[in-house]
Amino acid sequence: MSGGNGQGRAAAEAARRRFLVGLARGAAGMAMIGLGLGLYARRVAARPAVALRPPGALAERDFLGACVRCGLCVRDCPFDTLRLARLGEDVAAGTPYFVAREVPCEMCEDIPCVAACPTGALDKGLTDIDDARMGLAVLIDRENCLNLRGLRCDVCYRVCPLIDRAITLEMRENTRTGVHAIFEPVVHADACTGCGKCEHACVLDEAAIRVLPRRLARGAMGRHYRLGWEEKAKAGRSLVPGVIDLPDRLPGG
Ligand code: SF4
Ligand code: SF4
Ligand code: SF4
Repeated sequence: MSGGNGQGRAAAEAARRRFLVGLARGAAGMAMIGLGLGLYARRVAARPAVALRPPGALAERDFLGACVRCGLCVRDCPFDTLRLARLGEDVAAGTPYFVAREVPCEMCEDIPCVAACPTGALDKGLTDIDDARMGLAVLIDRENCLNLRGLRCDVCYRVCPLIDRAITLEMRENTRTGVHAIFEPVVHADACTGCGKCEHACVLDEAAIRVLPRRLARGAMGRHYRLGWEEKAKAGRSLVPGVIDLPDRLPGG
């Protein structure tokens, strides 16, 4: 009898050990998953995501706080421009974004993506799609852009929904030939919506013009800078009166 009880106790003890080991392994596994998700969240938050957000998206940090990852904006986009980021992508998982080179924003007048957003992550105050600022086009490769090589491509200029406002063609001398003109596509930040149609349409194998999130595309002057000619126009007079106009002197003159 005592042998049977001893075997029973040993079996119970072995089962208890297996249970505890299993529990510990499970907890370790959960901790690893938690650690992995935490690292992923930090990586995604730390990187300057190149993802373009839908029209009306709040500033990135506020957007990430307000977006509940419901996907309703993606569902209601008639052009399948928007997609939801998947786990492992460099964009916070479950949030909407688009890739201009693949499918740009068609700038719907009724902005259905914004109408569908239940939280205000896409600002309902955006009622005119021309006021959207999804990103900013930048002529990134000046060496391969056909226009800057002296040819007439102009495709990015012609597809722009805000032609002659968001992109203009600026004529300048072609110093290579000495007799032709170069028509440089110039993007104007105050009008560009970041729709991505220029990047999508660029005829090169790799687009020479790209749409970047504005925080990546723009520099910033120090707050203390004042442009003399603007201040003069505002004030209606020079802010530095009595400047002595000295004669121009050339080096060696
Ligand atoms: S404006 Fe239209 S095309 Fe652009 S993201 Fe919204 S629903 Fe899609
Ligand atoms: S992203 Fe390109 S096509 Fe769209 S508004 Fe700006 S310059 Fe025009
Ligand atoms: S479409 Fe591309 S290659 Fe053509 S002018 Fe525009 S940026 Fe240059």
